[in-house]
Amino acid sequence: MEITKHLFINLSILIILLLFCLIWLDNSKKFTISKKIIVVFFIFLIWTCIQFSYNPVPFARYDLRIIPLVVGGLYFGVGPILVLAMLIIRSFYGLETGLLETAVLYIPLAVAFFRLSPWFWKQAPIRRIPYAVCLGMLLGVLTVSGMELINHTGSNWYDAWFAYLVIPPLGIGLIAYSIEFIKKSVEMRLELIKVEKLKAVEQMGAAISHEIRNPLTAASGFVQLLNDDYLPRHKRKEYLSIVKEELNSAEKVIQDYLTFAKPSLVSIEELNVKNELKQIIKIIQPIANQNSVEIVTDFSVIGFIKGDRQRFRQCFINILKNAVEAMPNGGHLFIETTFTHNFVTISVKDTGVGMTTEQLNRLGEPYYSTKGSKGTGLGMMVVYSIVRAMNGTIKVTSEIEKGTTFNIKFPTVTSLKNFDSK
Ligand code: ADP
Ligand code: MG
Repeated sequence: MEITKHLFINLSILIILLLFCLIWLDNSKKFTISKKIIVVFFIFLIWTCIQFSYNPVPFARYDLRIIPLVVGGLYFGVGPILVLAMLIIRSFYGLETGLLETAVLYIPLAVAFFRLSPWFWKQAPIRRIPYAVCLGMLLGVLTVSGMELINHTGSNWYDAWFAYLVIPPLGIGLIAYSIEFIKKSVEMRLELIKVEKLKAVEQMGAAISHEIRNPLTAASGFVQLLNDDYLPRHKRKEYLSIVKEELNSAEKVIQDYLTFAKPSLVSIEELNVKNELKQIIKIIQPIANQNSVEIVTDFSVIGFIKGDRQRFRQCFINILKNAVEAMPNGGHLFIETTFTHNFVTISVKDTGVGMTTEQLNRLGEPYYSTKGSKGTGLGMMVVYSIVRAMNGTIKVTSEIEKGTTFNIKFPTVTSLKNFDSK
């Protein structure tokens, strides 16, 4: 069973190479490969098969070149080039009857491939696999018959028949199945992305109408009340301030959406992290006082990053506000910065209610809020999109009833300069 043994070795090599190819494809995250790369890869497979072939007599080489030929020819439409390449490679291994037999068998196949591949692609996916297997089997039969004719097989004839009837169809079947499987999963992935996008647009539309309609309805109700000529002065003032508040809240929702939809940084400047955070703390201090939250800071002396001041403030106001809101019965809010040559890390730690793993995973999801009517569930979404736009990263750790820590890391101005000059 020498032929069978060698063909199995051939098959193992082919499968290992295809596995590497799949890993590379998965890492490169590409859904399409150029035809040139396919041709080179398949020629390499054919060369490998011929190189590792079994040749008991000088003019006969038993190998699995049928597999790359059939798969490349049917699935990728590069059959004619592969046949030509195979004949050239084969000729390097000797110009004898074996080469002649190869030419007689494969030149008509090269011509047939011109029509076979388009026809093959018109077939349903479940039919393509058996068709490819049948072609492999047919070529196997023709190869062994040819060898019988010039009497290569000798006493090995049953071994040759068994090897060529079983191994090429098996290999082709396995590879064709993998290709169909990958093709289907790529199509599903693309479809999923499309569905996700549609879902996001749908959600956004629903939320905009819901969140803007509420304050607008309230405002228009109070405007109607203002119509009353006998309304006391203090009431009028109160209603007007409610109308203003409602309109402001509608405006806030729109502002949040705009930041999410277009997180582009409008005016980029160098920001002194320490000074910016001090300003933001001033804004947040009144809410902290209301909740009996003590703010403790520890800032490194230096630390410049590049970004849009307004967005940076919006981002940290959201984070700090959430932290304060997580401590309704008071607590400590620690804000620290650490500075290395390449990064500034801002850490915001609270001693609040904390989050479960499930809540942590949903953080940043649009409209995810545990605050009922008090929350919009947009704050963290905005935070994530701003940090992303500033090339930063966010890490959150949280323990229920103990507190939450946000670590936000930005590249420093010096690291960006180094990067630009590279
Ligand atoms: P909102 O504050 O309007 O609820 P956010 O997007 O700002 O929306 O926050 C989403 C949710 O994330 C909050 O409802 C809260 O459950 C959780 N969260 C955010 N920050 C913290 C924090 N520091 N501690 C505990 N939970 C938090
Ligand atoms: Mg919030």
